[in-house]
Amino acid sequence: CGIVGYTGKRQAQAVLYDCLCRLEYRGYDSCGIAVNTPEVQVFKDAGKVRNILQNAPRFEGTAGLGHTRWATCGEPTRINAHPHIDCTGKISLVHNGVINNYAQLRKRLEANGHKVVSDTDTELIAHLIEEYDKGNLEEAVRQAVKEIDGSYALVVMRSGDNTLVAVRKDSPLVIGVGDSEYLVASDVPAILGYTNRVIYPEEGDIAVISPDSLKINRNGEYIIPRVEKINWTPD
Ligand code: GLU
Repeated sequence: CGIVGYTGKRQAQAVLYDCLCRLEYRGYDSCGIAVNTPEVQVFKDAGKVRNILQNAPRFEGTAGLGHTRWATCGEPTRINAHPHIDCTGKISLVHNGVINNYAQLRKRLEANGHKVVSDTDTELIAHLIEEYDKGNLEEAVRQAVKEIDGSYALVVMRSGDNTLVAVRKDSPLVIGVGDSEYLVASDVPAILGYTNRVIYPEEGDIAVISPDSLKINRNGEYIIPRVEKINWTPD
C-alpha cells in the first residue's frame, strides 16, 4: 500500500523507517525493509511499523527498500509481507498494486524451477526479474513487466548494487531528488523530510536511480525529467 526506496549517503534503514512512519495514514496490515549490506537483508512481519521495525536488527547499508502492505493476494503474514526476494537472494523488491495474471505466472515460473514461498502476486515479479537478469537490471525489469497484467509501482534492487530501478503502471510513484541521494515513494509526504524537489514518473517510465545519477527511460529513450518544487508541508 506504500512503498519507499532510498539510495545515497545516509544509513538507509533509518530513512526507510522514517518514511514508512509518514506513509502510515494510508492504512496497512504488514511492513518490512530490505537493506543492501551488500547482501540483501530483509526484516518484515504483519503489524504496525513502529511495533515491528523498531525490533529490527541494525543493517548497515546506504541503499534499501521499505513497504507497508494492504494484502490483496495472500493473508497478512510475515512470509507474505514485502520486500520479496527471488530464490537466489539476488533480486529484492517492493510492490504496490495487483497482478491479475497471478495464477498463470505462478504456474509458468514453478514449471521453470522457481520455488515460490509466499502466496503473494508480488513474489512472482522477483522471480520473473531474476529470470530475465543477464546483468542489466533495467532491461530485466523492462522484460519482466511486459509479462505482467495488472497495476504496479515497483522498486527493485540487486544484491551488492546500490542502484534502484523503479517503474509504475496505474499505481502512484514519486522520486525525490536530494544532494547525492534519491528517494522513491508512493507519495510526497513520505519524503518531504528529505527533499522538496520531486519528479513524477509517467506510466511505463523506467527510472534507474544511483546515489549520484538518475536516468529515466521513456519509450526506449533517456529523457531529461522535469523536477518540480513542492511548496507545501504535510500537517
Ligand atoms: N498485491 C500485493 C500484495 O498483496 C501488494 C499489495 C499492496 O499494494 O500493498 O502483497
